[in-house]
Amino acid sequence: MSLASQSITELRKQLTAGEVTPLQIIDDLEKAVLASDSEINAYLSYDFDKAREMASNADLSLPLGGIPIGIKDNINTLGEPCSCASQFLVDSYIAPYDATVISKLKAAGAIPLGRLNMDEFAMGSTTGNSSIKRTNNPHDLDRVPGGSSGGSAAAVAANSAIATLGSDTGGSIRQPASHCGIVGLKPSYGRVSRYGLVAFASSLDQIGPCTKTVADAALILNVISGPDEMDSTSLEVDTPDFTKNLNAGVAGLKLGIPKEYFTEGMDPAVREIVNSAIDKLRNAGAEIVDISLPHTEYAVATYYIIAPAEASSNLSRFDGIRYGNRAEQSGNLIDLYKDSRSAGFGSEVKRRIILGTYALSSGYDHKYYDKAQRVRTLIREDFTKAFEQVDAIITPVCPHAAPKHGENSDDPLKEYLEDICTIAANLAGIPGISVPAGVISVDDRKEMPVGVQILGPHLGEVAVLKVAQEIENFL
Ligand code: GLN
Repeated sequence: MSLASQSITELRKQLTAGEVTPLQIIDDLEKAVLASDSEINAYLSYDFDKAREMASNADLSLPLGGIPIGIKDNINTLGEPCSCASQFLVDSYIAPYDATVISKLKAAGAIPLGRLNMDEFAMGSTTGNSSIKRTNNPHDLDRVPGGSSGGSAAAVAANSAIATLGSDTGGSIRQPASHCGIVGLKPSYGRVSRYGLVAFASSLDQIGPCTKTVADAALILNVISGPDEMDSTSLEVDTPDFTKNLNAGVAGLKLGIPKEYFTEGMDPAVREIVNSAIDKLRNAGAEIVDISLPHTEYAVATYYIIAPAEASSNLSRFDGIRYGNRAEQSGNLIDLYKDSRSAGFGSEVKRRIILGTYALSSGYDHKYYDKAQRVRTLIREDFTKAFEQVDAIITPVCPHAAPKHGENSDDPLKEYLEDICTIAANLAGIPGISVPAGVISVDDRKEMPVGVQILGPHLGEVAVLKVAQEIENFL
């Protein structure tokens, strides 16, 4: 079996036993990428020679010693391009420093390898907003991998990466993980430093792992977590060993099922998979409790005020002077800004900037932005109350399996509804994971994966991972 299709945990065992070398892993990975990525298009770039150089010096005594990890193209890795899949940055921006997560991966012996496709500036849920290439779902090339971390999820699913990092502002790790049949974890807000992540919506963004197994997600979370003086929103809290007690079981745990997440428009086959996972958790000794998160219906509207508002401010640095490709022959400075931004940004990014600027403009800020912040508080309080009663919450990740390319592209609102089950966790700052729970038939012959989402209280990743491990053990 190719080493590229194995998990971190399996590879680490073989590496420390001296049965394989880091160079063999890179060789197998290169073969896998060359064999499949012309069809999948998960990668924007890679440098196997540089990876071999790092692999030959890998310290195998470290927790991720000798393990290559793919990186979403919005996380800075020193000396590598970081385009956010935007024409604005393509061929011009080379990262001048390592994001904190990259320094931490390197310090743990991992080898950052390859840049992964995404929706431009992480805005989207299909990876179809990449201005560079279209990534295909490895289970059906006619379908999207989800997004915005579509490249990160597709590469793991296609066994052309061992594991990857993604970012999640409204579901961008969990939703593609569900659509591609892999594990995707969004940590609690503040658990992982955002330093070096190109900011989309700073009060919502978190970096997290896309992996083949729950244990691998825990292993990466161990490494990337922790306070960082370069990110004032990272929390001064201890990092527990997330890999411990993963198999402790769910007996005695109270798991909440919020009725608001089982919406009318949900595919009945997805509902069946989620219900069967819940039944299995009940049989494994968990107490299943019906709960209500009454403000769920406002989450999408709230997010689409707050996220664009923050984005419109964060993206002002891309002006052709400070960052981004510069328009030629503009008459004056203002024209240069306008021309550079008009040429550099794609249509979804422009739509978000316009939405956000409008929501923040004087006279409307109270009506939109302030109101959205107040609703955000209500959504957060829903969860606080629920977690007084239960240890974790089980929901679908997405009401349906991966759609076909272009299915929603004529209607942005339809695409915004893709995030209906994932967005509230970002608004509340709580951790969430998508774990594969089964497959459904979509066409005559095709089967597509479906994930289940587990949400936990703020900093409650231990419970989330334990329930996810139980679901993984069922399969
Ligand atoms: N799909 C959502 C959006 O387009 C979430 C994206 C994300 O989590 N980065 O905003």
